[in-house]
Amino acid sequence: MSDLRVRFAPSPTGYLHIGGARTALFNYLLAKNQGGKFVLRIEDTDLARSTQESVDAILDAMEWLGLSCDEGPFYQTERFDLYKLKIQQLLDEGKAYRCYCSAEELDAKREKAKQAGEKPKYDGTCRNRIDQPDAPYVIRFKLPEGREETTFVDQVKGSITFRHEELDDLIIQRTDGSPTYNFVVVIDDAEMGINLIVRGDDHINNTPRQILLYEALGYEVPNFAHVPMILGSDKKRLSKRHGATSVMVYKEMGYLPEALVNYLVRLGWSFGDEEVFSMADLIEKFSLKNVGRSAGVFNPEKLLWLNSHYIKTGDPQRLAELLTPFLQEKGIDVTTGPDLISVVKGLQERSATLLEMASGAEFYYAAQVSYDEKGAKKFLKTEQEGLFTLLLEKLGGCDDFTEKGLETIFAEVIEQTELKFGKVAQPLRFALTGGAPSPGIYDVLEVLGKDVALQRINQALAAIAAKA
Ligand code: GLU
Repeated sequence: MSDLRVRFAPSPTGYLHIGGARTALFNYLLAKNQGGKFVLRIEDTDLARSTQESVDAILDAMEWLGLSCDEGPFYQTERFDLYKLKIQQLLDEGKAYRCYCSAEELDAKREKAKQAGEKPKYDGTCRNRIDQPDAPYVIRFKLPEGREETTFVDQVKGSITFRHEELDDLIIQRTDGSPTYNFVVVIDDAEMGINLIVRGDDHINNTPRQILLYEALGYEVPNFAHVPMILGSDKKRLSKRHGATSVMVYKEMGYLPEALVNYLVRLGWSFGDEEVFSMADLIEKFSLKNVGRSAGVFNPEKLLWLNSHYIKTGDPQRLAELLTPFLQEKGIDVTTGPDLISVVKGLQERSATLLEMASGAEFYYAAQVSYDEKGAKKFLKTEQEGLFTLLLEKLGGCDDFTEKGLETIFAEVIEQTELKFGKVAQPLRFALTGGAPSPGIYDVLEVLGKDVALQRINQALAAIAAKA
């Protein structure tokens, strides 16, 4: 056990993004690795953009990835009383002040700064005003005087210094009375005892402001680790242009959670040249030491490769359970027809996603085979009638529908017809599958079972007769 306390603090304004999922994963792994605690906090102070639907989407995605939290979820909207108290504390101590500058005034100042070639920042007009006009106001945090810079040692990026001339008096409460992100994040992280903050490096510019707030509020400053962004193949920040960015869309596309977890962790972390890691491996091996400083590039082919790896090596029973909703989506009732686990075993080698596996499984459950046109021309013709009739007879008499029994039947048919193996197997495979990509012929026969196999050969014979 350690006293490490980390957190994931998503804003519920959409779905769980691949980048957010990686942040959550890194935090989860650190907590598990060190016997610390992983806290989940929903940052929903932006009332206009936060929705319950997004909260649910984030929670579902985390559950799917297996990232369960030890504490939470906590909601910032339930903590407004605390934030009010802390604002009052800063006001009372003269560390914050009401600012009555109107949007128009601020715009004008910004414009002026721009024209003068300066970086626009608030000039502190309201810092020392004593009157309290009856007008809307924001509350600003007074940038502490007498200090020129703030430095912190980032656990990924090393020592970072920000000059205070880059900063201005931060708004901590909006005109509508709601507190802002940089303020509440500090209070919550401090009050929740978070001592290491691991997040995307898009937040790095917020860090000096937050450190100053920790100090002003009398809190201990935690450690920080800023993880590089995830980029698309064109080295621009990962967005929808590069493909799906929502974790749950990967679920819908038939990815396994362990494949996504394995892929995400490698976007920014490495362990020698190993590529395949189970969650247990990761919990053992993950540390910030091996998190790189440069951005990871999202590579969909590698993710697909990992997914096919996990499908190939997965437990057939579990895969069958995960596959079922995909089959139901296609209107297939898995309780009728061949045993799903046997179907899965035949398809594991040849499916990169569950969606692909569901397509591959379709022919097993069809009441009638639907034939692909090219194959129908090639295999469903009068010359094949004799072969199909013989197969019907031989397979009909076969009591051992396993690879061994079926091999014997094939040997007999080959001997009797003097055909090569392929000339027997190909037409039969077409009659059974309609031309769908499928496992080997013995496998297909065994999984379909004798009754269905015979019924499909009869269907082929009927199709030939109908053509003649
Ligand atoms: N709510 C912030 C976000 O989603 C989290 C910031 C943080 O981790 O400090 O970007």
